[in-house]
Amino acid sequence: MDYIQRAFDDARQGRGSQRPYCDGVIASTVDPTIAPEGMHIFSMFAQWVPESWHAEPHREEVEAFADRLIDGYAELAPNLKGAIVHRQVISPYDMEQEYGLLGGNIFHGELTLNQLFHMRPVAGYADYRTPLRGLYQCGSSTHPGGGVTGIPGRNAAREILRDRRRRKVA
Ligand SMILES: Cc1cc2nc3c(=O)[nH]c(=O)nc-3n(C[C@H](O)[C@H](O)[C@H](O)COP(=O)(O)OP(=O)(O)OC[C@H]3O[C@@H](n4cnc5c(N)ncnc54)[C@H](O)[C@@H]3O)c2cc1C
Repeated sequence: MDYIQRAFDDARQGRGSQRPYCDGVIASTVDPTIAPEGMHIFSMFAQWVPESWHAEPHREEVEAFADRLIDGYAELAPNLKGAIVHRQVISPYDMEQEYGLLGGNIFHGELTLNQLFHMRPVAGYADYRTPLRGLYQCGSSTHPGGGVTGIPGRNAAREILRDRRRRKVA
C-alpha cells in the first residue's frame, strides 16, 4: 500500500511516478497467435502521471516513465531489457488525441461517486436517452460506467425496449 501511495503522491506533486504502479499481462502466453513465434507481447497498464498531462504530449517524461516501469520489472526479471525489440508508449495525451478519451480517462469520466448514478454522464441525461428521439447513449460515460462489463449497453437496451413497448401501446 505504501508503494502505491507513493506512486500516486508523485503524480499529485506534478511528476510521473518514480516507481510506478503497474498491472502487467503477457497475453501471448495464453494466445500465441498475437505475437510471432518465440516472441511475446507484454502489456503494462501503469499509473500515475499528473492529470494535466492529457493536454500536452510530455513525450520525454512519458518515455522516462516507461523506462522506470521496465526498470522495476527488470529487478524481478533481469533479462527483460535485453529481450525488448519494440515498445509503444501510450500516454493520456495519446488516448485523448487518438481514441477521443477526454482527459485521457479510460472510463470516459472518472468513476467517482459524484459522477455515477443520476450524475452520469450529467444530471438530466442519465436515463440513456438523449434529446434526439431514437438516439441513445450506451458507452462507459453512462451509468454504471467504464469497465469490461457491458452493463451500460444492457441498461440502454432495456430502456430502448421500454420505449418501443410504450410507443406500441400509445
Ligand atoms: C488503456 C485502457 C485500459 C483499460 N483497462 C481496463 C481494465 O483493466 N479493466 C476494465 O474493466 N476496463 C478497462 N478499460 C475500460 C474498458 O475498456 C471500457 O470502459 C469498455 O471497453 C467500454 O465498453 P463499451 O462497450 O462502452 O465501448 P468499447 O469497448 O469502446 O466498444 C465500442 C465499440 O464500438 C465500435 N464502434 C465505434 N464507432 C462505431 C460505428 N460508427 N459503427 C460501428 N461500430 C463502432 C468500436 O470499434 C468498439 O468496438 C480500459 C480502457 C483503456 C483505454
